[in-house]
Amino acid sequence: MESINTKLSSLPSVEKLLKTDVLSQLVGEVGHESVKNEIRRKLSYIRSSVSENNESVISQLSSPSFSGDLISSIKAAVLEQFSSSMISVVNLTGTVVHTNLGRASLPVEAIAAMAEAAAHPCNLEYNLETGKRGDRDSHLEKVLCELTGAEAVTVVNNNAAAVLLVLNTLAQNKEVIISRGELVEIGGAFRIPDVMKSAGSILREIGTTNRTHLRDYESALNEKTGLLMKVHTSNYEIRGFTNSVGESDLAQLAKKKEIPFVSDLGSGSLVDLAQYGLPDEPTVQETLLSGADLVTFSGDKLLGGPQAGIIVGRRDLIEKIKANPLKRALRIDKITLAALLQVLYLYKDPHRINERLPLLADLTRPVKEIEALSKEILPLMQSHLAGLAEVSVCNCKSQIGSGALPLDLMESRALSIIPVSSNGGTDKALRNLAARFRSLPRPIIGRISDGKFLLDLRCLRDTKEFLEQVKLLDLKGL
Ligand SMILES: *Cc1c(COP(=O)(O)O)cnc(C)c1O
Repeated sequence: MESINTKLSSLPSVEKLLKTDVLSQLVGEVGHESVKNEIRRKLSYIRSSVSENNESVISQLSSPSFSGDLISSIKAAVLEQFSSSMISVVNLTGTVVHTNLGRASLPVEAIAAMAEAAAHPCNLEYNLETGKRGDRDSHLEKVLCELTGAEAVTVVNNNAAAVLLVLNTLAQNKEVIISRGELVEIGGAFRIPDVMKSAGSILREIGTTNRTHLRDYESALNEKTGLLMKVHTSNYEIRGFTNSVGESDLAQLAKKKEIPFVSDLGSGSLVDLAQYGLPDEPTVQETLLSGADLVTFSGDKLLGGPQAGIIVGRRDLIEKIKANPLKRALRIDKITLAALLQVLYLYKDPHRINERLPLLADLTRPVKEIEALSKEILPLMQSHLAGLAEVSVCNCKSQIGSGALPLDLMESRALSIIPVSSNGGTDKALRNLAARFRSLPRPIIGRISDGKFLLDLRCLRDTKEFLEQVKLLDLKGL
């Protein structure tokens, strides 16, 4: 015990540690506070471990490398505090617009505009002609009206906010008529009935799950009706004996009764996706043409831009929405606005949009190209993982994701990886394998399907980096 006490009393002081080369340099990088606090934490841990007779800490104290180890562990702990927990990953899940992985990657033009908006003051809400207060929506109005044919626009934080704001503005304490077939839930927290409640609207559901007719809307209309709503059933499809009422019929009915007709498109594409061999999705333009008074859609689903909620349509309604105090709470920030503007400018040249917008480039990537990529990396993967896992190329289907066109899958190619040793059962081995890919410095995210770990190559762009990461894989004890 004596000797331990002696050792404890000979622990370096906080001041002494701060003066070491390594830690004083670290202070220069991250400041005095963090390093000092970490030193205190470490020293007090050592003291309390010793008083609790923690064998391993006690033996470390006697080690000749103790002081060096202590300093490096303090440095590592401090640097860890400064590393972001949000890091880039490689999305090989086969779901292109992956909400949990941050949806669309942005084009270079948008990234440059974000950096510019972040670095400097700008005329976000400032009219340079008059020197007076301006309107942040004005920056997007021209291009969005041109692209969609709408009279006016306003933009908020995301599409959930857009729907909330529209309902709260036009139908607070009023009934909103909607078909039972369209009471959708979009990923966890966004459910149409709940959003209605939060907006203060009264849900008036009509028809049945599979069939809703125009007469259902007609007979539900009354003096308490605030608006007619149609929600694009983004993430599921009702098939078989079905009927729903089209946009133009609903628009006519709403017009006759002098109430607004709102269509929540969810994904809301601005171009006809069929021209790129992708499945058909109603465009914002078509929906407005068929008579919708307002259309809401996301900035970061099929549009391929930053997270945003876009509301386009009749000017008088948009003015009301902009005057709602909630608009202020839900408004878009300047950095997102700068990015969105550049993405919309790319749509002014629709013929090249699928080359210039990363999302559309991934969605329209020819299967031949994906196949060639798979053949290029297969032998390298096989040799990296030799003896540990069997690697082959298989056909697979990618999906758009985020609820867009859920049943339409795109032909693709994947690396199929099966661990050779199946310690504790194949399932466990596969889950372990997936976890090892996820724990790389740049995590590679795949999916497990049919007893294989699949890496869908549709969204793989940086092959060199991918292979470098694979070299770092630790597959021991799988
Ligand atoms: C995705 C979606 C939303 C929510 O949009 P976010 O941009 O995720 O907030 C709302 N309505 C529909 C129909 C959707 O598909």
